[in-house]
Amino acid sequence: MIFEHIAIIGIGLIGSSIAHGVREGNLSKTICASDMSEDVCERAKKLSIFDTVSSNLKEIIPNADLIILCTPVGSMESVAEKIQPFLKQGAVITDVGSVKQSVIKSVLPFIPQGCHFIPAHPIAGTEHSGPEAGFAQLFQGRWHIITPLPDSDPEMVEKLSAFWSALGAKVDEMTPQRHDLVLAITSHLPHLIAYNIVGTAAHLEQVSASEVIKYSASGFRDFTRLAASDPIMWRDIFLNNRDAVIEMLGRFIEDLIDVQRAIRYEDGEKLFNLFTKTRQIRREIIGAGQDTAAPDFGRQLHLSPSSQKK
Ligand code: NAP
Repeated sequence: MIFEHIAIIGIGLIGSSIAHGVREGNLSKTICASDMSEDVCERAKKLSIFDTVSSNLKEIIPNADLIILCTPVGSMESVAEKIQPFLKQGAVITDVGSVKQSVIKSVLPFIPQGCHFIPAHPIAGTEHSGPEAGFAQLFQGRWHIITPLPDSDPEMVEKLSAFWSALGAKVDEMTPQRHDLVLAITSHLPHLIAYNIVGTAAHLEQVSASEVIKYSASGFRDFTRLAASDPIMWRDIFLNNRDAVIEMLGRFIEDLIDVQRAIRYEDGEKLFNLFTKTRQIRREIIGAGQDTAAPDFGRQLHLSPSSQKK
């Protein structure tokens, strides 16, 4: 076993998915979990995947060889401060936060000598939250980015990498700075655009809400999946990756104005060339195994009778 005793802090989508994967793969002797919410702890107990669930960190942390912080990015500092007194010598502490530089700044000061903090981020998720949202296959074939610190022990980085590989992930390494820039364009900006476009549609007074929903399959629907993502998690991501998001947003606005100009001046060639280039990117994503080539993202619609109303 790579780690015999695992502790998960924050029992949401990611925390419970890790636990399901560990149980399914029989990857540890024990897996315990903690959440600040008593209600979440009670719901997590019903999943029958944890040996112990408690909001009291003293019952969860002292025995753990691997502690995985799975709370929103903005809460990492207070979580690190609370676990510090109970950490065992030699323990590995990692996280799954979607931003790396700010998490490192928040957590590192609370890591005692003799313990190892190795930041990381799984590039896997859904728009659902909470303990019931987790499932063992979430990380299968998805990237897990480890952002080691300059003085990280290579042996511990190797162990953490082996653990995520055992959960089915493909592991990559990056600097925290590079991670935050890359994720700003591949994840944070698309979510910001989705939140904004869904918000704009909601504010449009000349289009009634029922028409927006009725004709949503014409494109709008695909934005609503991203825009349904957890509000606390995404508030924290934007506040904690501010510089990179603002940089990418600036480039996006410049390019958008360029497209606006092409439409205004009926520059069809410019639009055609852009759309040809973007279609090629979609093909490359499919070629890299990052999505399905099936029409409509392979959706098999199970429409309720009310959703089929004309
Ligand atoms: P989630 O489903 O909302 O779960 C987070 C859990 O942490 C909730 O149960 C929450 O309790 C609890 N929590 C919040 N503050 C806490 C604290 N101070 N101490 C203990 N527990 C606390 O969120 P998630 O989607 O699993 O995301 C967790 C982390 O993974 C975030 O850092 C996120 O950036 C990262 N991540 C998410 C995705 C994704 O697609 N969802 C993908 C990759 C990485 P309450 O419900 O009571 O607030």
